[in-house]
Amino acid sequence: MAKMRAAQVSKAGGPLEMVEREIPDPGAGFVRVRIEASGICHSDVLTKEGLWPGLALPRVPGHEIAGVVDAVGPGVFSWSPGDRVGVGWHGGHCGTCDSCRRGDFLLCRLGAPVPGIAYDGGYADYVVVPAVALARIPDGLTPVEAAPLMCAGVTTFNPLRNSGARPGDLVAILGIGGLGHLGVQFAAKMGFDTVAIARGSDKEPLARELGARHYIDSQKQDPAAELTKLGGARVILATVTSAPAMTAVLGGLGPEGKLIVVGAPPEPLQVPAGILIFGRRSVAGWPSGRSIDSQDTMAFAALTGVRSRNETFPLDRAAAAYDRMMSGKARFRVVLTMS
Ligand SMILES: [Zn+2]
Ligand SMILES: [Zn+2]
Repeated sequence: MAKMRAAQVSKAGGPLEMVEREIPDPGAGFVRVRIEASGICHSDVLTKEGLWPGLALPRVPGHEIAGVVDAVGPGVFSWSPGDRVGVGWHGGHCGTCDSCRRGDFLLCRLGAPVPGIAYDGGYADYVVVPAVALARIPDGLTPVEAAPLMCAGVTTFNPLRNSGARPGDLVAILGIGGLGHLGVQFAAKMGFDTVAIARGSDKEPLARELGARHYIDSQKQDPAAELTKLGGARVILATVTSAPAMTAVLGGLGPEGKLIVVGAPPEPLQVPAGILIFGRRSVAGWPSGRSIDSQDTMAFAALTGVRSRNETFPLDRAAAAYDRMMSGKARFRVVLTMS
């Protein structure tokens, strides 16, 4: 049997250990992907620390996968060996529940399985996934460029394009990190009057380089007041993991403005009811996207030049790469490479 390398978690809170495994074969409806790059996402903590309810260990984390189709199982007609593909948070769906029959696969009532959580994911040389989880990588993107778009990218691109904001509208991105540095680029390329909000002034040059027309230092300025001076935001995309930071910007929403939450703070979010009622404002969440949304994200990135800034590590150094991501110091995404 041919072997492959994988970095697995075998007990909750335990280390990422390099192991050798047999290369799995794809069953009916599945494909095998030879992985070229795999992003490390903060959500991988759900696997590493055993936080996902019902998680079975050992498990190989990773849901920002970029590679090449290597083998297809019976019943797979749309993909062939050699196709360049990505796999993200949407790792399959049941296809028969009410949500799936409406095409809303991510809200599958049976719980859409996530690579690296429900089955072994991207910190490995190969992965086997349902064919419905594949997104086509366009020619213009390298594997390292594609991988982070499969979670961080689609998680910012998809809520922005579905937000109801129109070109020229004031759209703010709260937080300039792994998600936010992509959010600013997408917002600017979509034609929004883009505001970046972050703590301190050190991120201002980068935010402007990424396409922000306005910068608000939330340590020195009241972000709600500053947004109001600019006319009020149509949309604020909250990529931070601090609930108080989200509450602090709510007053900067314009009429019909919407706060879209994609960062997950540990504490509950406080929302003054008056802000919602007077001005018909709303607070909503958004869970990344389907495989076709990831494909659209990559196509848009190839078209417009949106790229994440990445630090790469070889697969054998997965543990160090994960620690680097957890340190919060990575600028901005950490990506494993397999070759
Ligand atoms: Zn993720
Ligand atoms: Zn379903």
